[in-house]
Amino acid sequence: MEIKKGIAASPGISIARSLVIDSEDYRIPQRSINPSQRMTEIQRLKNAFKDAAAELTSLEKNSRNIDQSKIKDIFAVHLRFLRDKDLQKKITDLVHDESVTAEYAVSSTLRDIAAHFTRVKDTYISERAADIYDIEKRILRHLLGRKREDVEHLTEEVVIVARELSPTQTAGFNKKFVRGLATDTGGRTSHTAIVARSLGIPAVVALEDLTEIVSGGDTVIIDGNRGLVIVNPDEQTIQQYEEYSRGFAELEHKLDAIKEKPAITRDGVKITLLGNIEFPDEAELVLQKGGEGIGLYRTEFLYLNRKDEPSEEDHYQAYAETLRVFRQQPVIIRTMDLGADKYTQSRRFVPEPNPFLGLRSIRFCLQNLTLFKTQLRAILRASVLGQVKIMFPLITNIQELMQAKLILHDVMEDLDDESIGYNKDIQVGIMIETPSAALTASTLARDADFFSIGTNDLTQYTLAVDRGNELVSTLYSSVDPAVLRLIRTVIQDAYKAKIDISICGEMASEPEYIMLLLGMGVREISLAPPMIPEIKQVIRSVTIENCNKVARKVLGMNSERQISTFLRGATRKVLPEAF
Ligand code: PEP
Ligand code: MG
Repeated sequence: MEIKKGIAASPGISIARSLVIDSEDYRIPQRSINPSQRMTEIQRLKNAFKDAAAELTSLEKNSRNIDQSKIKDIFAVHLRFLRDKDLQKKITDLVHDESVTAEYAVSSTLRDIAAHFTRVKDTYISERAADIYDIEKRILRHLLGRKREDVEHLTEEVVIVARELSPTQTAGFNKKFVRGLATDTGGRTSHTAIVARSLGIPAVVALEDLTEIVSGGDTVIIDGNRGLVIVNPDEQTIQQYEEYSRGFAELEHKLDAIKEKPAITRDGVKITLLGNIEFPDEAELVLQKGGEGIGLYRTEFLYLNRKDEPSEEDHYQAYAETLRVFRQQPVIIRTMDLGADKYTQSRRFVPEPNPFLGLRSIRFCLQNLTLFKTQLRAILRASVLGQVKIMFPLITNIQELMQAKLILHDVMEDLDDESIGYNKDIQVGIMIETPSAALTASTLARDADFFSIGTNDLTQYTLAVDRGNELVSTLYSSVDPAVLRLIRTVIQDAYKAKIDISICGEMASEPEYIMLLLGMGVREISLAPPMIPEIKQVIRSVTIENCNKVARKVLGMNSERQISTFLRGATRKVLPEAF
C-alpha cells in the first residue's frame, strides 16, 4: 500500500481499479488471469519482445543515413533492453508466479525500473527513465495490438490515472464508468479540475510521480476531500474508506435537502446562487442542486470534442436547451474562451510560446470575426427564449470591450435586416480576470451592464502563477492580499457605477471564503453545481454583520497565511461541520 498526497481538486471518494492512460488515451488493462492462461500469456510476452526488437532494428536500418549519434545511442539502449534476458525473465516470472496479464507484468516491472532511475542523482541515469517509458509503450503496443481499447468505450468502473489530462479529455469521460481521476500535474483551478468538479467526479491532482507507481488494474482509492490517493490499499483501509464514503454520501444527501430553502443569511440578506456549466445538460443539475440560474456558461466546450466547428445552429440548440431549464432566470452566456489550454481541434497543434499570455479568449475572437459573429448571432437568436445575458471574457482594456460591442451591434443589424427577432435590451457584461481590468474597473463600468469576477485567472495573472502548474501551486491563492485588494476595488467600482457584480471563479465554491466575499459586498455567486448546497448552508449560517467584521479584519492583514488561517477559524465557528 502506498499513500500519495496531492491537491484535492474535486470532492468525493472513489475506490476502483485503475486505468492508466497516456496522452493518447493508451489503456493498460486488468491485471489478473486464470492460472491456466499463464503459458499463453508468457508466449504473448515473448512474441511482443521479439516483434518490438524487430521493429526497432528495421527502424534503425532505415535511419542509417541519419548521421546523428544521439539517435543511434537511443536505438542501442532500447535494443539492449529488449534483448535483455534477465529483464524478460523477471517479467515472465511475474506472470507465472502471480498470475497476472503480460501487459500488467510489463508495465509494473518497467515502471519500477523507471522509478528507480528517476531517484538516482546522476542526471544521465535519471533521464534514462524516459527511455524505459518508451520501451514500455513499444512493448504494450505489440501486446495490445488491435485490442487497444479506448476510454470512451468503457464497460466497467475505473479510476483514471494519467500524467496530465486536458479539459477536452476530461469532458469526454463517461461519468457512469469513470469514478475518479488522479493526475501527476495540474492545479486546483486548472480547467481539468473544474470539469471534474462539474461532472461530480472525485479528483486529486499534482501527485507528481503517481503514474510511475500505479499500474493498470491496481486498486486505487481517490480521496478528493483530503487530496489523497492510496495505491493497492489493504483490506482495513478499504473498509475504512467504504465507511467514510457512505458517511460523505449521507452528508451530501442531507445537504441536498436544503435545496428548497432560500439562500438567506441569518439577518435576512438574500444571496443569489447561480451555477457554472460547461455543457447544456448540466443546467438540470444546477436546478436540482437549488441554483437560481446560470452565472457562467463556458461555451468554448462546444468546440472541444469535435473535429469540425460548431455551426450557428449547433450554438443555438445548445443555448436553447439551457434556456428550457431556466426560462425565467438569468442565463449568462460567456462568449468562447478558446486558447491557453482549450483549443479547437484545428488549432490544437498551433504552438504558442506562452499560451496563457497569448491569443486567448476575446483576443482570439477579435481576430476570428466569422467564428465570433456566428456565436453572437446564435446567442442573440436564443435571447428571445429567456433572460439571456452576454459576457465577454478576459477583457484587458476599454478598446477591447468597445470593439466586441461594435461587432455585437453589427450582428444585431444583420439580424434586423433579416427580420430575425432578438432581445434588443440584452445585457452585456464582462469578466474581470486581469489586473488591468480590475485597475480600470471604473472606466469599464461605464460600458458594461455587469461585472463577474473570474478569480481563477485574476489570481493567476496577479500573482504570476500558472493556475495549472503543480510546481508553483503553493503560491497560488485567491486570498493573497494583492488579489483581495483588486477584488475590493472592482466591487467598490461596480457599486459606484450601480452595475451588478458577481463572483464566478472557484473561490466562490470554497466555504471558508464565503464570509469574506459577503463582507466585501458580494450578493451574487456562481459556482460548480455540486457545491451549491454546501455554500448555501454557509450563507444560511452567517450574519452580514459578522461577515463585514471578518472582511474588515482580513483587508487589514498583510500575509496570505494569516488570512487563510483566520478565515478557516471564522467559518469553523459558524459551521463546525463544514470541516
Ligand atoms: C475564472 O478565470 O475565474 C473563470 C471563471 O473562468 P475560467 O475558469 O473558465 O477561466
Ligand atoms: Mg477565466
